Amino acid sequence: MLPIFVELVRKAKEATAAAVRASNTSGGWGEFGAIGAAIQVTDGPVFTGVSISLLCGIGFCAEHSATAEMVKHGYTRIERIVAITHDGTVIPPCGRCRELLYQVNIDNLDAKVLVSDTQEAELRELLPHVWQEKADFLRRSPYHGR
Ligand SMILES: [Zn+2]
Repeated sequence: MLPIFVELVRKAKEATAAAVRASNTSGGWGEFGAIGAAIQVTDGPVFTGVSISLLCGIGFCAEHSATAEMVKHGYTRIERIVAITHDGTVIPPCGRCRELLYQVNIDNLDAKVLVSDTQEAELRELLPHVWQEKADFLRRSPYHGR
């Protein structure tokens, strides 16, 4: 494991434990905490999240819930992010999450993403050909900020 990510991986794995227990006792069709994520913000704390998978194609990734937790506390700029399975396998974020992290703060293109036990990448490497010009257009949209 890359040393700079060890603590984030530990926190992401810790986040999955209660969610997996909830999944096993919910009596529903959900799978909670199959994936955990941890975000280190720039000059701030670590935020964690877990995935929720339900029938009918609903649910969300761990990176989504970690991002919501981060934004809830007033942060948007990500320094490092990890996502792991509940048993500790590092996985890179899916395409939707890459886009989410980018749109939350365009500077997150510089965020370091753990993509395997031994390799990190900047978000910009995982999300080439961004559509920032259109994002600038959307900022002027009357729908922005609703
Ligand atoms: Zn995702």
